[in-house]
Amino acid sequence: AAKSKTAGVLLYSPSLDSSSTQTLSLLTDLRHALQHGELRLFLQPKLDATSQQVVAAEALVRWQHPQRGLVPPLQFIPFAEQTGFVRQLTLWMFEEAARQWASLQLPGQPVRVAINLSTRDLLDQDFPQRLAGILKQHGLASSGFCLEITESAIMDDPQRAEATLNRLAAQGFKLSIDDFGTGYSSLAYLKRLPVSELKIDKSFVMGMATDESDAKIVRSTIDLAHNLGLSVVAEGVETAAILAQLRALGCDEAQGYFISKPLPAVEFNAWRTRWDTRAPG
Ligand code: C2E
Ligand code: CA
Ligand code: CA
Ligand code: CA
Repeated sequence: AAKSKTAGVLLYSPSLDSSSTQTLSLLTDLRHALQHGELRLFLQPKLDATSQQVVAAEALVRWQHPQRGLVPPLQFIPFAEQTGFVRQLTLWMFEEAARQWASLQLPGQPVRVAINLSTRDLLDQDFPQRLAGILKQHGLASSGFCLEITESAIMDDPQRAEATLNRLAAQGFKLSIDDFGTGYSSLAYLKRLPVSELKIDKSFVMGMATDESDAKIVRSTIDLAHNLGLSVVAEGVETAAILAQLRALGCDEAQGYFISKPLPAVEFNAWRTRWDTRAPG
């Protein structure tokens, strides 16, 4: 009994029995959602912490369900990972980002779009080739994109992950380690992998104003990243005070509700224009 529908709320437990009829029905629902345009790509800006310019945007999926409303990713991504459906979802997100990429560019700093990958993508031999195909179809360069991979997705099968990441890096994608500090990543792997960015998990960033250990973890991660020649992004920046603290610590980029919540792609440029022309301070 892994899925329950109560008062229009979806609850999908990550421990679904993949043979159950309920699982099949959710998989059917997800396939239907993909085919009938119910999935939405939202974007959340990443700022250069010093200049406060928008330098990138993270693509985050939502499911606009006809009855249940906007379903957040944590209610279906774990299931999509279990069933392997996430591979189609990743490709859909990349394709959608490629389709919208040009419209997200305003004069000035180009905005790189970051896509979240799953373990399944890293294990799929054809994945790098598929991304190359989508880029070609849209006439875009890989340098316009960043790929975010969690530590745990890499550590699932480090050797295969490394092989895929090497190919993606060779194709010119910027690679970022997501949720840094929450998984069991090995620093030896970190050193070997062709990544150029670390994202400090939001649990540490949100805690840094009140919790001395969180503040120390954030500070050490920024130093570690810089010592390894990587740039560092803090996610979960919810206040001006934390943004200022991060800037003082030399953090390169910031992302969080204080700057903007994830927005539907069509609202992103309007937000960016307001942000760029806002009164300083
Ligand atoms: P994530 O990749 O770590 O994404 C960051 C999450 O933190 C997003 O939640 C974002 O809305 C939220 N967030 C951003 N700023 C703040 C803040 O200041 N405070 C707080 N409390 N939260 C903030 P969201 O969109 O619900 O996504 C949750 C997770 O679902 C993502 O975590 C990612 O693991 C997964 N996910 C979302 N979209 C995709 C996708 O297209 N593909 C895959 N594979 N996973 C996705
Ligand atoms: Ca992410
Ligand atoms: Ca994250
Ligand atoms: Ca996360």
